Amino acid sequence: MKSPTQTNAIDFDSAKLQRLGFGQQSPLLERPASLGQLRQQMGLQLQTSLEPQRILGLFFREVQRLVPLDALNYQHKSSDLRLEFGLRGHHSVSYSLSHEGAHLGELVFRRNQRFSEKDQGNLESLLSALLFPMRNALLYRAATQSALRDPLTGTGNRIAMDQTLQREIDMARRHMQPLSLLMLDIDHFKRINDTHGHSAGDDVLKAVATSIKNQLRNVDMVFRFGGEEFLILLSNTSREAAAMVGERLRYAAQAEEHWADETRIDLTVSLGCSTLLPGESAESLLRRADSALYVAKREGRNRLAMAG
Ligand code: GH3
Ligand code: MG
Ligand code: MG
Repeated sequence: MKSPTQTNAIDFDSAKLQRLGFGQQSPLLERPASLGQLRQQMGLQLQTSLEPQRILGLFFREVQRLVPLDALNYQHKSSDLRLEFGLRGHHSVSYSLSHEGAHLGELVFRRNQRFSEKDQGNLESLLSALLFPMRNALLYRAATQSALRDPLTGTGNRIAMDQTLQREIDMARRHMQPLSLLMLDIDHFKRINDTHGHSAGDDVLKAVATSIKNQLRNVDMVFRFGGEEFLILLSNTSREAAAMVGERLRYAAQAEEHWADETRIDLTVSLGCSTLLPGESAESLLRRADSALYVAKREGRNRLAMAG
């Protein structure tokens, strides 16, 4: 069954005019002070970060003080950004954010209970706290993207990986949450290059990167680690859950059709998985995923191996 969806576009310039008393009287003006307080608090809080993941994570948490939610999805296509918080929800309401002509992404709020007019009014009001933090984060992202991204696949490069891995390890420790890592390597990739040429090989690399990103909640956690090797960081993900994600990635790579010169290429990947141990360093976590990958290769490829 298709979930009921409502789509709304918010133009913050006209929303602001409305707040200032121009145009139609907004029902939000009659809301209790707690909405105003929350909006003000959020405004301050969200300004403290330039990371979309953190800004939206805070937003998702804080909004729920007023409007209960099950999930929040965010997408900004032109900067290849897609984030998901929470689980699913039967009902959804979506907003397209823009400011002075700049598109700032699509947001979908989900939950199992229908959204009332009042809920939607509250959400719309709170969205304004997101406007400048998200605009700044997207500008920052655009400015740093070329320095932190692999130009061929659009995934994070080694510099991004080192930074993110250390940050995620620190976060996992602080919040006592599990952190898992998948190392993915294309099987017999050299054959693809040898048979179909380097440029066909490049296309396969791009397709594999896209396939990985399509399977994940946070595309910022995918890195090109070596020539045909990718690293996927799974925050707040246990060993068992990471194994399931790994199997999903393996299956997706195999199920997708890849073509070179009108010939279908059979493509498989192997994966190694490790989960952060107490007191473990980034190097050791990486090394254990790499050793597991080596086991997967040795045992016949097209499989996932778990680090001991
Ligand atoms: P295995 O199953 O053991 O992983 O075998 P493999 O052939 O995938 O592994 P191997 O490490 O022997 O070869 C990797 C190949 O990837 C060799 C290299 O030429 C190719 N490669 C690395 N970077 C790129 C790239 O950016 N584009 C293309 N087309 N090929 C690349
Ligand atoms: Mg390989
Ligand atoms: Mg390799």
